[in-house]
Amino acid sequence: QPVLAVVGRPNVGKSTLVNRILGRREAVVQDTPGVTRDRIAYDALWAGRRFTVVDTGGWEPDATGLQGSVAAQAEIAMNTADAVLVVVDATVGATTTDEAVARVLRRSKRPVLLAANKVDDERLIADAASLWSLGIGEPYPVSALHGRSSGDLLDVIVAALPEAPRDGERAAGPRRVALVGKPNVGKSSLLNKISGEQRAVVDSVAGTTVDPVDSLVELDDQTWRFVDTAGLRKRVQTASGTEYYASLRTKTAIDASEVSVVLLDASEPLSEQDLRVLTMVVDAGRACVLAFNKWDLVDEERRYQLERELDRGLVRVPWAERVNISALTGRSVRKLAPALRTALTSWDQRVPTGQLNGWLSELIAATPPPVRGGKQPKVLFATQAGIRPPTLVLFTTGFLEAGYRRFIERKFRERFGFAGSPVRINVRVRE
Ligand code: GDP
Repeated sequence: QPVLAVVGRPNVGKSTLVNRILGRREAVVQDTPGVTRDRIAYDALWAGRRFTVVDTGGWEPDATGLQGSVAAQAEIAMNTADAVLVVVDATVGATTTDEAVARVLRRSKRPVLLAANKVDDERLIADAASLWSLGIGEPYPVSALHGRSSGDLLDVIVAALPEAPRDGERAAGPRRVALVGKPNVGKSSLLNKISGEQRAVVDSVAGTTVDPVDSLVELDDQTWRFVDTAGLRKRVQTASGTEYYASLRTKTAIDASEVSVVLLDASEPLSEQDLRVLTMVVDAGRACVLAFNKWDLVDEERRYQLERELDRGLVRVPWAERVNISALTGRSVRKLAPALRTALTSWDQRVPTGQLNGWLSELIAATPPPVRGGKQPKVLFATQAGIRPPTLVLFTTGFLEAGYRRFIERKFRERFGFAGSPVRINVRVRE
């Protein structure tokens, strides 16, 4: 989701204008003098376009003096955001601080928009026009307080911002599930077990518009589409030397799915092959349910062993949903549906930008990123850029070590959940 940074000296009506841009979606927390504002980034929506609005007033660059610090904020904004909105008080005209900001922004490679604020009536439009002198383009007269012309400004803003990549629009119909795992782990048995009781639903697939390699299965009063199951249902045993095809088929199924059930044989040690399948699911960004099959063969001792194997084996997916089942006896197979639902809810989840930044600024104040090369990287703000899978973008002033990113992910999950879904964290370091 594209980012608009709003810069300007204090009292020009920045916060009011930001609130105007946000509509009633998220209210900007009012400034308390002397207290660092903890929320600086918010979600905005205009003409069907989503974008993040960053109020740079929350940044505290280490420059001295008002003029220096506002100019420094403009500099960061210019290097971080996709477009910069400069707010100037038209009733006052261009001050030396405004000029300092304009000087910085004239070098910007990204669009810079100029809002001439406090144009509460027609007679002030001439004042707005005088701001052409700043040399950063056309001044758009607005009244943040009364909302005058703010719609026009928003039109200009969304036109200047790059298109947001669309959230993976999901096709209507049942959620798509892949059933994957190494040979003989019990995939066919499980599919037969869960579809056996629902033969009517499954048989109706043939000759309908549903791709015949998929199976529609009723689980827990919900219809699911198990993708690419032709081979499983017919129990086509692949000939020798076809491991390549088996792996290709696994990949195809995972790609076609929204959530993957990785079947593991609980009676045997976790294998390399199991981990390869898991890695494929995580890399594809799919929600994930681990189903420990053949639980009927698991005794007390094996259970203990398994726990220890998992501590080491599942370091990449500690967040995956887990169920213990037996495809043979049907034990706990009904627990599959709730696990699938949990994983998909997480996969679809979006944390509002304001909430995200409120949480993040507290976390970072308590545990700042480790110093690298004598410099303390700062995390300026974050936004959840996408869902399916949930993807966060952190805007920083320096590289964040992998360990620190994992720390953020862990804390993020503690705060917001996301059980059963991978979460991607991208870091955008300002140039
Ligand atoms: P696939 O290759 O993953 O499709 O595995 P299959 O469904 O063909 O199962 C492989 C073997 O494991 C068969 O002999 C099944 O009867 C057996 N099996 C599958 N699920 C279970 C289970 O929950 N418990 C036990 N004891 N055996 C199972």
